Amino acid sequence: MVSPLKHDWRNFIDGAWCDAADGSRIVVENPATGEPLAEIARAGVDDVDRAVAAARACFARRTLQDMRPAARGRLLFEIARALEAHAEEIALAECLDNGKTLAAGRGEALAAARYFTYYGGAADKIEGRLIPLGADYVDYTLPQPFGVSAQIVPWNFPLQIAARSIACALATGNCVVLKSPELSPLSCTYLATACEEAGVPAGAVNILCGLGQDCGASLVAHDDIDHIVFTGSLRTGQSILAQAARRVIPAVMELGGKSAGIVFPDADLDQAASSTAIGIFTHAGQVCSAASRLVVHRSVHDEMVERLVAKAQALTIGPGITGADLGPLISLAQRDKVEAFCLAAAQAGAEAVTGGRRVDRLKGHFMQPTIFDRVGPDMTIAREEVFGPVLAVQVFDEPEEAIALANGTPYGLCAGLYTGDLRLAHWAAERLVAGQVFVNEWFAGGIETPFGGTKRSGFGREKGQEALLNYVQTKNVGIRLASGGAGRPGG
Ligand code: NAD
Repeated sequence: MVSPLKHDWRNFIDGAWCDAADGSRIVVENPATGEPLAEIARAGVDDVDRAVAAARACFARRTLQDMRPAARGRLLFEIARALEAHAEEIALAECLDNGKTLAAGRGEALAAARYFTYYGGAADKIEGRLIPLGADYVDYTLPQPFGVSAQIVPWNFPLQIAARSIACALATGNCVVLKSPELSPLSCTYLATACEEAGVPAGAVNILCGLGQDCGASLVAHDDIDHIVFTGSLRTGQSILAQAARRVIPAVMELGGKSAGIVFPDADLDQAASSTAIGIFTHAGQVCSAASRLVVHRSVHDEMVERLVAKAQALTIGPGITGADLGPLISLAQRDKVEAFCLAAAQAGAEAVTGGRRVDRLKGHFMQPTIFDRVGPDMTIAREEVFGPVLAVQVFDEPEEAIALANGTPYGLCAGLYTGDLRLAHWAAERLVAGQVFVNEWFAGGIETPFGGTKRSGFGREKGQEALLNYVQTKNVGIRLASGGAGRPGG
């Protein structure tokens, strides 16, 4: 039996739970009611300094680097086990501070655990190369950790996103300072609990909650970090990249999207409509890889829109704890922003075939599931990320036009297509400018498949084996075996 959600939450620095140095706290709200739910320590600049110093000291002790990689992997398996053991508490926290259903919250906990088993299994498979230089030399590469990895995560899937970055960092021997999102920080604290229970060395993982403008900004500007992993909005990513450039340190940027699914005339319309509805209404559209645009062939447009409207109108709306299909947006500000996008779309000439407004009958921050038809390629609703349950529909006649429409935004995170014609699918997948292409199922993929952006959606890959490459730097070791001689010029 799961106990009720506790009220007071703390940060985790150098293996110990602590309040903020100046005693400040953040009030965490339940987005389904708009009421205060809990409080968490609000880390400031001093707490960031302490966390970075703890991570630096742990890295300098070489505890993780000197472990046999298989033992580092086993440590990750223990973290996974601890997360699974806390899955019901995590589900409740995600349900109440993030608006998810309990089932989705449980899914978040289990996905987080899966990242640790996946990368735990990879820890002893990160190998260098032997490079032949002739009889007088031995030359090999060492994939080495960067040092202190500063990680910043958004509020929509905080635990999963934190887990994917921390698991990679630990598997490769880095130490971490992670800032959890101020709007939904509770589930990330279970990563600290799991690290504590698994016996992760003090300082290897530090989890802080704080505001972006002070805690986040001071973390990414800190002179003693070596590496940044940022998942969040384009605008914040741009300011963080400026800090990475100042210090000349690597950064992974997992940013927003405005992803389109293309429905070709031969598509299975039932499959395309179900998949699109899942793609745009999951977590009330607060998903970076949401199917926020649909580019439909003229011959099937009316039928697709009709099917999608029926699906949108059948959704139940309410707090996640009730098991409703569509939960709240994370904050009043986010709900107002989404509604403002809808009002502007209508003014620009798009037609709201369903929804378009807030839900007045509910106390929390709910928005109607919304579909805009007759969306022109230059309209804001076709180009900017809304981050709400809002689908924009566009029409095409020729396949080349579909590709141009799908690629016609500043973003390039995901794209999808629906067709039974494999030749056409391959042709389109090749031309879509996106980090991943879903064919006949939005969100097809998993923890094992690399994920990331092109264009303004960012760069670097998280998930899959490719992600590990972001967490190591290659050192080449060249050894001259023969004595005598002055060596030879490089190059
Ligand atoms: P956001 O950029 O407002 O905030 C993300 C994080 O950055 C938060 O923890 C915030 O406190 C912190 N932050 C804010 N200002 C900062 C600063 N100046 N310096 C350092 N940290 C700062 O984004 P959000 O609203 O929390 O999340 C939604 C966005 O995240 C959307 O654009 C979405 O597409 C994107 N996202 C991307 C992925 C992906 O994998 N590509 C996944 C999830 C969400």
